[in-house]
Amino acid sequence: MKIYLIKTPELQPESMKDVHELLAGHAGPAVFLSDDYAFDPNQFPFLNKYWPEYRFQHTMEDKKKVFDKDRSVPLSWQELFLLCDHFRKEKNIPDGDFVVLLTMRKNALNWFSHCSRRNIFVHAGDWHHFTSADPRYPIAYQVTENIVQALMCIDNISIPNEFVHEVPKGCINDLCMDKHQVMLKLRTADICESCHKKIQQEGIDGKFVKQAFDIFEHVRKGILGRVTAKQPADPCTLVVEKGPRFLLPDMGIEIRLYPLFSALYLLLLKYTEGIRVKDLSNYREELAAIYHTICQTDNQEKVEANISSLVDPLSGHFSQKKSKINKTILSTMGPELAPHYQIQGIRGGEFRINLPRELLDLRVRY
Ligand SMILES: [Zn+2]
Repeated sequence: MKIYLIKTPELQPESMKDVHELLAGHAGPAVFLSDDYAFDPNQFPFLNKYWPEYRFQHTMEDKKKVFDKDRSVPLSWQELFLLCDHFRKEKNIPDGDFVVLLTMRKNALNWFSHCSRRNIFVHAGDWHHFTSADPRYPIAYQVTENIVQALMCIDNISIPNEFVHEVPKGCINDLCMDKHQVMLKLRTADICESCHKKIQQEGIDGKFVKQAFDIFEHVRKGILGRVTAKQPADPCTLVVEKGPRFLLPDMGIEIRLYPLFSALYLLLLKYTEGIRVKDLSNYREELAAIYHTICQTDNQEKVEANISSLVDPLSGHFSQKKSKINKTILSTMGPELAPHYQIQGIRGGEFRINLPRELLDLRVRY
């Protein structure tokens, strides 16, 4: 199986060379080749203009942006795949081989990448918004991820779908509608159990799977090398935004919690001295009010039932929720930093979050 890397004119040849070197450095049945094929701008007039400063208004982009003729942005998926097909035809590329277009051009849905049959495009720009690591790492990941997905026969347009994870879990098939979520899968270099089964069901060559995971591991190390070097030994500011969203802008990460977990976490952020489980019922009304604001549901019964069991010291629900919150925090930021943000305490005593409150930037009231 051959994988041809090609590019649109605005992408520097060195950038494609860097990505190619990384991919080709891992032996296996997939042979990576790069081709400096120059598209004729008369034949493809949409390649004539390039607006590096064009910005989508939302990071979570699910509405198609209409092509602006004067600025020639953004390109539709059809235009991007048209270039792949043109190259395929010019060079007589067999159907079983992949053609991967690397481009700095924005695409109409603002996706990182996409695959149609065995044509793939990967957006090679803007990675500095998500990581300080060299962009060759996330780009190489995107190339490999799309090949695996194509071989897995995943339809990532029709969601919900068992193999497209809208809630990220550190699997190559995390959807990442919020683009910042992409760093999780790049850092884990992993694949979840159900996707692993699907790989086996589809009979994908084990040697290729190994090659792909060698690449993912290389990417993970490349990215973590930078992250580790940058990581402060001390905790950094936790920003709470509407939602609520728990963000660590200095680290470029987000702690993602379900509403009931968020409500509990917000309550414990508020009471610096901590709360004993047997005293939780004293905070019942406050917890219910926070949870209600987050859920925005009219189902009062459900809110009451969830809160009642959470504050009941005999239910064990506080302990379960605490463990899950702490696990999420650990997997998000690693063992060095997690203790600053986790819920600490021992049975019978106060449970608290030890983060110095001058590092808490609460931008919304709950
Ligand atoms: Zn998965």
